[in-house]
Amino acid sequence: MPNATGQPSAWRWLTINRIRAGLIGLVSLLCLAALSAPFAMRGMDEAVAKTLRHEIAWTAQHGRNELNDVFRSIVALQSAPEAGSLEAARLAGDIFFARMSTWSSGRLGAFIRESEERNGRLQSILTRLSDLDAMLGAIELPSARGVALRLLTEMEPDITAIAADSYIRFNHNRADNSDALRFYNRVQVVIVTALVACSLLLVIVLMVQNRSLATSHRRQREIARENAFLASHDALTGLPNRTAFLTALTAACARATPGRTVAVVAIDLDGFKPINDVLGHTAGDTLLVSIGRRLGAIAATAEGGLAARFGGDEFLMMIEGVAEPEAAEAFAERVREELYLPHVIDDHRVSLGATIGLSVLADPMVSPQDFIQQADIALNAGKAAGKGAVRTFHVAMLDGAALRRQLEGDLNAADLEAEFEPHFQPVIDLTTRKIIGVEALARWRHPKRGLVPPTDFIAVAESSGRIVDIGAIILRKACVTALRWPAPITVAVNLSAVQLVRADIPDLVWRTLAETGLPASRLKLELTESVMIHDAHGTHKLMVELQELGVTFALDDFGTGFSSLSYLRSFPFDELKIDRSFLADIEHNGQAAAVVQTILGLARCLDISVVAEGIETERQAALLTAMGCAKGQGWRFGKAMPPEALLELLMEEADSPIMRRA
Ligand code: C2E
Ligand code: CA
Ligand code: CA
Repeated sequence: MPNATGQPSAWRWLTINRIRAGLIGLVSLLCLAALSAPFAMRGMDEAVAKTLRHEIAWTAQHGRNELNDVFRSIVALQSAPEAGSLEAARLAGDIFFARMSTWSSGRLGAFIRESEERNGRLQSILTRLSDLDAMLGAIELPSARGVALRLLTEMEPDITAIAADSYIRFNHNRADNSDALRFYNRVQVVIVTALVACSLLLVIVLMVQNRSLATSHRRQREIARENAFLASHDALTGLPNRTAFLTALTAACARATPGRTVAVVAIDLDGFKPINDVLGHTAGDTLLVSIGRRLGAIAATAEGGLAARFGGDEFLMMIEGVAEPEAAEAFAERVREELYLPHVIDDHRVSLGATIGLSVLADPMVSPQDFIQQADIALNAGKAAGKGAVRTFHVAMLDGAALRRQLEGDLNAADLEAEFEPHFQPVIDLTTRKIIGVEALARWRHPKRGLVPPTDFIAVAESSGRIVDIGAIILRKACVTALRWPAPITVAVNLSAVQLVRADIPDLVWRTLAETGLPASRLKLELTESVMIHDAHGTHKLMVELQELGVTFALDDFGTGFSSLSYLRSFPFDELKIDRSFLADIEHNGQAAAVVQTILGLARCLDISVVAEGIETERQAALLTAMGCAKGQGWRFGKAMPPEALLELLMEEADSPIMRRA
């Protein structure tokens, strides 16, 4: 298997090396076989030569036997002189003559000439042989037969002597020659078999190597394809990356016309960071993959739709053929709604909101980079306004973006202890109109800008992490201030999701209460649902720990997030705060009133008290009282104010409730 870098794995290297070693071994074997062939051939030649020399002894021996045959056939003719015997004698003579004619030539001739004695014998044989020839021509005559028999008798000792000599010289190592021949024969068989086997092995090795080469070529092509894909795609989600998105956007901008333009959607997941921190990076990755898949699917339904990941939890989308901004807004709204649907991560159902910035191309001179930045500016404006919304870019936003960048710099340099303080907004018993609690709301006393509201700096402080220190300062200052109020009045402090993830909240609260001396029962902590979505288990544990100290909890901004019953039931909340967006319409919109009525009924069932936030008019207060809402907060009863102003109000209130002052 090749590894991620495209290099063949150790296993493949091992196989290739084995094949190479095998090839080298085979080639060496073939060379050895080829080299040993001449030696074997020479051995064979020698063995054959020896065998041929054995033929000398054989020929000589036969000469002697054939002399005897002639002798016997003449004797037979003498005793029975008939035609058959005559023919037999002539035939035997012819054979004998033919045999003897070979004695003076060839190997036998050479052997005879080697020795004087043998040569002398041969000469005497040849002399008698010519006489014998004449006698055999007249063999029907008894006198010729007599002479022939005498000549044969005289030749016999010479022939026998030569035959005996040759036998002694050549015949005794006949067996050795046969063994040598057999041996060399076997060597030849072995060499031929080895050659055939080597050839077969070579063919197999070549086939294996061919296959291996084909596999690595295929793998290389795959790797090249993968590399090309990775160059233009995000490795985690498989979505196009920044480069690919810019290329596509540049082409789309070039195609755009006033009636069919392009829109870019910048998406920021609300609270992805805490999920990543708490559930772990693997779960975070799984969530990003799930989001990537969802965005890809949405993009596929739109003309020229493309979703890309720009890194971290930043996603971008584009669509083409946009006839009017409203169509792009509807698309962005759809993206927001679909992202809201829960994702299942490690058996947890996780829901994430998203803040969306939208930019619709109006000016063809805007570069794709600036176009994307416009969507980013709209996104930041959305985040500053409280997240979870779709914001469309407008030129006026350029100031807001610049402001945010400036605030980021200022916040880094700020003396937090000196510049951050809580202001206090009263919470009223709607029946008695008495102040029963106070919410601490952070203010930044900026050296140059004056009092900066939290809507301008909370998001910036959260993304830089400074919210942890700011939150601790607000908590301590709020507790110190609350000590100056009449005993039953509680102080509510807001906690951000980032604080819950990054700070040890139970320890912070315990230390603050211990240092300031405020009873835990007078401290209320306000959490939004997003905190529970990020880490339900951790939040529950933390709440129980603090509850044991005597601290109480309010579920803030109810109705804007998931408005989940399960949170209310399973988390130890004492109070829920209906978001002020519901109250805005309560006087004119029956549906808004019905929703508030339902929330009130629900809270009653769960035995949780309710605070209606953002009461601006007496009519709203009266309606809420009629619906059975016990507590309220809003400009009708007082805006967030500095500690001295609140103290004054509390003192005044001792004998004159706010209702009468209104
Ligand atoms: P919140 O907790 O919902 O606070 C209520 C906000 O509504 C406050 O805005 C308050 O001034 C405003 N408000 C109160 N009554 C009315 C009304 O009758 N009409 C209208 N239109 N507005 C009303 P503020 O002080 O600007 O705070 C905004 C948000 O900033 C808060 O919303 C809270 O989420 C956050 N925040 C404020 N202080 C802190 C803090 O110390 N820590 C953290 N983490 N967040 C804070
Ligand atoms: Ca609050
Ligand atoms: Ca609120």
